[in-house]
Amino acid sequence: METLILDPTDENIAKAAKILADGGLVAFPTETVYGLGADALNEDAVKRVYEAKGRPSDNPMIVHISRASDIGQTTRMLSPTIVSLIDNFWPGPLTIVVKKRDEIPKTTTGGLDTVAVRLPDNETARKLINLAGVPVAAPSANLSGRPSPTTFEHVVEDLNGKVDVILKGEPCRVGIESTVLDVTGDTPMILKQP
Ligand code: AMP
Ligand code: MG
Repeated sequence: METLILDPTDENIAKAAKILADGGLVAFPTETVYGLGADALNEDAVKRVYEAKGRPSDNPMIVHISRASDIGQTTRMLSPTIVSLIDNFWPGPLTIVVKKRDEIPKTTTGGLDTVAVRLPDNETARKLINLAGVPVAAPSANLSGRPSPTTFEHVVEDLNGKVDVILKGEPCRVGIESTVLDVTGDTPMILKQP
């Protein structure tokens, strides 16, 4: 497969968004690490992400949205705790695990009834997701077992020839993965702290 390597101009982001909406795979920068995105509602597209990375299919993906109000695309659950977390930490490196809507396939969540959601603090990422018009499932844009990529060059090394588009960006500002917080129970629980 030929991979398009694109500068993050508005025109190129729109092109990548169309490819994403049509079931393609697009690697993109975020403030934590680069992500490898697919339409979170499209099982075939999500399966291709697992294949491209060599990722076990029971390892759930983080679903990325471009504005806080879009959390409703992923869950019907909106507690005061969730609203307060969103107000305080989004956009940013906090992933919130909530009960998933039926529309989110279990392929995306590694078989779980919950879904991990995040609003990234990166303009290219948010423009891409917004123009694609769907929530975007995106694990880190590396081959499984390799370090998470924090530069565009790392993504090219791992995924050139395996994905449809790689969007260039600056080195990731935060450079480590997001904290994952489960709010489905009575007490919020940190599941992953980088
Ligand atoms: P990655 O983006 O490659 O760092 O992987 C995302 C990580 O988020 C997974 O490996 C899990 O640790 C966590 N995660 C994603 N979805 C869920 C979920 N529904 N429940 C618990 N943890 C999750
Ligand atoms: Mg990873």
